[in-house]
Amino acid sequence: MDLFTQNHTATDSDEPRTQIYFQGGLNVALPNYAYFEGKIVPYGEAKVGILTHALNYGTAAFGGLRGYWNGKEEQLFLFRPREHFLRLLNSGKYLCAELEHTPETLTQAAKDLLRAEGYREDVYLRPLLYKADEIIGVKLHGLTDEISMVSIPFGLYVANDTNAHVTFSSWRRVDDNVIPARGKISGAYANSALIKTDAVRAGFDEALVLSQDGHVSEGSAMNLFMVRDGVIYTPPVTDNVLEGITRRSVMELTEKELGLKVVERSIDRTEVYICDELFFTGTAAQVTAITKVDHRPVGSGVMGPIAEKLRSVFSEVVHGKLAAYSDWLTPVYEK
Ligand code: PMP
Repeated sequence: MDLFTQNHTATDSDEPRTQIYFQGGLNVALPNYAYFEGKIVPYGEAKVGILTHALNYGTAAFGGLRGYWNGKEEQLFLFRPREHFLRLLNSGKYLCAELEHTPETLTQAAKDLLRAEGYREDVYLRPLLYKADEIIGVKLHGLTDEISMVSIPFGLYVANDTNAHVTFSSWRRVDDNVIPARGKISGAYANSALIKTDAVRAGFDEALVLSQDGHVSEGSAMNLFMVRDGVIYTPPVTDNVLEGITRRSVMELTEKELGLKVVERSIDRTEVYICDELFFTGTAAQVTAITKVDHRPVGSGVMGPIAEKLRSVFSEVVHGKLAAYSDWLTPVYEK
């Protein structure tokens, strides 16, 4: 995701939030605090040198979680932080990271950071696991691993989330034997960035990406679901997709709330052109309905009933309004 690419200048901690950048139609200020080298520090003090290994070689892995504000309960709910931090640590395994952290210690650090910020709105949390040494040399072993976290207020990521128009990218999805696609390895996101920029510059909201063997994998930073003849399909985790936590959650919700099981199987490009419904899932994208692919309408060209129902169930779940899924939520504030 291209969250931190524009006007991202560090400010001193005691300065007001004046630096504004633009993301997905939303203006937000820089954070006040960061989790950095094991402590919560003013954001302006969380700095690395330009020789940092991860910055030069992409030897980092990142996460992306949302926190949802429930005004009635005056509570901020982190969505499935343990699953997100477990995936981050697993991505770290690909990078030979050596860290003492567990999903629990990272969840605690996230809570400490969000409490310091004192948010009363929906937020996005960005953990980063990175090779911190300032040295020259392409390798993974014998380096120092660090984890940082920052958070920002956050709304929509895909602007047209009920009627997205997507294109098939001319780029291919990074292959498991090139850089593991099931991990969130920072260097691999140059692939996602190529995909997203070309799609947006060509006038589309997002892109669908084919794997090396020509099957549909996912979007630039979101998983894909397709409905044909009343059956919901999603590409299997062996088709070079990120093992999305929203994907897994939506699969459970379709089964329990809609009574429909999702079939995991490879999807051909030409199926997409004749399917009834198509939608993305992801932390940033949440449930985004796709209504046009390469200028062809999906189904009747408007958001379909399955995407619509899932959007409303998902929103209730993440805001803590469906008790059956409360174990997916971690409250940030003490009551
Ligand atoms: N695929 C890719 C390539 C992604 O970057 C993301 C965002 N993390 C997703 C899918 C969706 O994953 P999740 O639901 O865990 O956010």
